[in-house]
Amino acid sequence: MAISSVENGVARRGLMLVISSPSGAGKSSIARLLLDDRQMDLSLSVSVTTRQRRHSEVEGVHYYFITVKEFERLRDNDDLIEWAEVHGNFYGTLRETAENALADGRDMLFDIDWQGADQLQAKMPADVVSIFVLPPTMHELQSRLNRRAEDSEEVIATRLSNAHLEIQKWQKYDYIVINEDLNLSYDAVKSIVTAERLRRDRRPGLFEFVSGLLEEKV
Ligand code: 5GP
Repeated sequence: MAISSVENGVARRGLMLVISSPSGAGKSSIARLLLDDRQMDLSLSVSVTTRQRRHSEVEGVHYYFITVKEFERLRDNDDLIEWAEVHGNFYGTLRETAENALADGRDMLFDIDWQGADQLQAKMPADVVSIFVLPPTMHELQSRLNRRAEDSEEVIATRLSNAHLEIQKWQKYDYIVINEDLNLSYDAVKSIVTAERLRRDRRPGLFEFVSGLLEEKV
């Protein structure tokens, strides 16, 4: 991966921030806060999906909405860096989107499920930082799914039953955030990103920086 951002004059590798959770745990709200926060300077990896567009969603902003045929073509051409079937629809990350952004030195946010997280972790273990968001209770998860009111009852029921399976994958992740309060959870996620950006092994520029320090005449 290319050297990316520069912090305190020290070159740093890009970061692939993966956030997963069962539907309704609040991951999307956390992701939105992160992306709107200019200080955090993260760009979203926009996935392709065969799911129907919700009214509030915009093509190319939330997803690229494609047909199953188009999805299969991308997948078979190896144009997807990871992909999965989630709640009966296909989702995938375009290899080009992810690789271009990282080559340009942008830290990227991946809002993907545990299957995708697994694939990215296996392919780019040094670059992935993963966070799993848990609801405080299953009751709260159900209320949040109902409140969203953009999905049919059938879709909500599928998502709730899948939540049990998804929650069991929590141990695959580096960090776990229990989302009881959105602001507190967001602060926790910001702290994770800030600390991960300072990791020694992510900052090859430190060699030069430290050499400079030691050569400095005082
Ligand atoms: P939704 O339909 O609510 O937008 O997303 C359903 C699930 O699919 C969420 O858990 C979301 O994180 C996941 N998802 C979205 N895009 C991708 C992707 O590109 N790859 C994978 N593996 N999962 C995705």
